[in-house]
Amino acid sequence: MTAETVCAVVGGGPAGAVLALLLARKGVRVTLLEAHEDFDRDFRGDTLHPSVLEILDELGLAERLHQLPHSKIHTGTIITDEGPTVLADFRSLGTRFPYIMMIPQKDFLAFIVEEAKRFPSFDLKMGARVEGLIEEGGAVRGVSYEDVAGEHELRATLTVGADGRGSRVRHLGAFEQLKTSPPMDVLWFRIPRLPGDPEGGVAYFRQGVGLVMLNRGSQWQVAHLILKGGFRDVRAAGVEVLRERLKAAAPEYAERFDVLHEWKQVSMLSVESSRVLRWHRPGLLLIGDAAHVMSPVGGVGINYAVQDAVVAANVVAEPLRQGTLDEERLREVQRQREWPTRLIQALQTRIQKRVIAAALDPRRKFQVPLALRLLLRVPGLRTLPARVIGLGFKRVHVR
Ligand SMILES: Cc1cc2nc3c(=O)[nH]c(=O)nc-3n(C[C@H](O)[C@H](O)[C@H](O)COP(=O)(O)OP(=O)(O)OC[C@H]3O[C@@H](n4cnc5c(N)ncnc54)[C@H](O)[C@@H]3O)c2cc1C
Repeated sequence: MTAETVCAVVGGGPAGAVLALLLARKGVRVTLLEAHEDFDRDFRGDTLHPSVLEILDELGLAERLHQLPHSKIHTGTIITDEGPTVLADFRSLGTRFPYIMMIPQKDFLAFIVEEAKRFPSFDLKMGARVEGLIEEGGAVRGVSYEDVAGEHELRATLTVGADGRGSRVRHLGAFEQLKTSPPMDVLWFRIPRLPGDPEGGVAYFRQGVGLVMLNRGSQWQVAHLILKGGFRDVRAAGVEVLRERLKAAAPEYAERFDVLHEWKQVSMLSVESSRVLRWHRPGLLLIGDAAHVMSPVGGVGINYAVQDAVVAANVVAEPLRQGTLDEERLREVQRQREWPTRLIQALQTRIQKRVIAAALDPRRKFQVPLALRLLLRVPGLRTLPARVIGLGFKRVHVR
């Protein structure tokens, strides 16, 4: 079966869902293809930063989003051997939303897609796994995909690969990827969260152990940072040893770690950081993690994915409506989004190498680096970490 659309968006994550909504509300025929049958997948972050909330506000959606169950992180504090340090105070940002909103990603995506369904030019195909690109005369002219009913073709003027860190579209389009090697991996698991626990998030860098705990209602989603490739040793030492290390680093939560009994409660994320050199080919554009896989430092992946979507919609919607889209417009998307991405990735790399690697060294007593401690004392500069995490290097607006 061959069908036609104007823009085929591959992947219903934050980048693809927001792009599809923005194009649909501008009257562009858009089909969103998502490989899964629903949005309820493994944990991939529940954070919406002030910059994303501002974008939703511009779309008139912020108030309704706030009616969904959520919590707020107003400050980012790390606890080291020397005590707590507030690294980022989002309340100091000049924004209507001076906090990070914690909302299950599945609820956010379902909310965006429900909104998109109000527009007749929007079409959603769930359970549709893209397997190939249709190529004609050197340009991409759509995708082939599989669903329960079989194989299909969808022809499109523009195909957008928003299919995440393991992007199939990136692979099919033979995009060249530049990878860095972050020195860490992350073990994810959950422990109970009890009444009286802090709202939002807590981070511990103590005794050579790195822990970031994020509020997920009745549970803490815990990210335990380990040195790259270290999982085999952690596993070989046994789950009891892991529990004791966690208890030593975060004694306030000691008894909660007792829920960890077996390795199937723990998932390992191999931390990656990469970007493609060119984000486009004729008829094809990559955005979000497909264009740049983000390290978890700062939890900014969703933020950058949504910002890519906004810029892409700003740049391509009108040419798509007029039938005048050329590769120059796709290059313009990369031009606007590449430098903020490169800046944040460079910063993440520096933090990983200089701070996190040192914090995970059990032979050293970890302190917040002197330069950062000084910066946090200077009026006017102390808001910088909150600004970079919460708003990014470049604010984008819906045109
Ligand atoms: C464990 C973990 C924790 C994270 N925590 C945070 C956090 O706290 N804060 C934060 O900001 N970021 C976090 N991130 C990063 C964040 O998840 C990503 O940066 C963000 O989701 C990127 O959005 P995206 O839309 O580009 O891609 P994704 O969210 O990965 O979405 C891609 C979508 O494409 C679909 N897809 C894939 N292949 C195909 C195909 N062939 N056909 C059709 N559909 C396809 C997938 O099912 C998926 O729905 C985390 C990531 C991980 C892995």
